[in-house]
Amino acid sequence: MEQIILLCMVSICLSAVQAQKFLFNQKWGPAGYKEWRGVNEETAMDKIIKTNELKATQIIDGAATLREGDIAVSSGRAPKICFARSCLWSKSVDGHVYIAYNLSPEYNEMDTMLIKTGMANIEQGTCVRFVPRTHQRDYIDIQPKSGCWSYLGARGGRQTVSLQIPNCVQVGVVSHEFMHTLGFVHEQSRLDRDNYVTIMWPNISRDRLRNFEKFRTDTLGLPYDYGSILHFGKYAYSQRGEATILPKDNNNIQLGQALSLSHIDRLKINRLYNCDDMDD
Ligand SMILES: [Zn+2]
Repeated sequence: MEQIILLCMVSICLSAVQAQKFLFNQKWGPAGYKEWRGVNEETAMDKIIKTNELKATQIIDGAATLREGDIAVSSGRAPKICFARSCLWSKSVDGHVYIAYNLSPEYNEMDTMLIKTGMANIEQGTCVRFVPRTHQRDYIDIQPKSGCWSYLGARGGRQTVSLQIPNCVQVGVVSHEFMHTLGFVHEQSRLDRDNYVTIMWPNISRDRLRNFEKFRTDTLGLPYDYGSILHFGKYAYSQRGEATILPKDNNNIQLGQALSLSHIDRLKINRLYNCDDMDD
């Protein structure tokens, strides 16, 4: 009798374990169930899209519009031009690329700390240094305008980088925008991207197809970087929550980055500005 009771207890236990496995197995789900992606796994670009898509208009700064979701373009000035090395920040004789900045007084202490952490993130292992503006002619004016966006490369004179409070004042987003300021477009805009990712055109919102254009950019001899802070996430501009970009061959590769530059992002900066690679 005791043996039978024991056997029953074991079998109840086992079925409970099975039920638990079934309930908590992430692979299981109703039709239309999408891969779970926690807030911490959101890429910098996912956060930018959320913020910028809230705006009804794409007119952001006088005559400028946004390309690829967060790159400001003045009318008549195509972002491609910047890759002909004509929009680089100038390099100092000491080997550093100093970017002078002005920070809006609207940012509080915490905002300022987060923006400076974003700057430090770019500086780490690269020759770029952000310095508060004193007299420099060319500089970035960081302002909490509507949305997260930056112009591409150095335009000459004052240029706005918009970091809306609070949505854009996050280290990953700040770092992503500064990469545009340095002259980089999104990683999946590389001309050779179709060798590495599949763009799922039918899943992209009709009016956002242009954000997936390719550009004749200089890859600087660096490999395609799935984990670049400049890479769109898998669900960027999705129409119905389905993936819009899938890595070729291996679906488990993560696209994009939440908080920090990738190693290749740092190499990219050093190559574009002809700096020695620095170990961080
Ligand atoms: Zn961007």
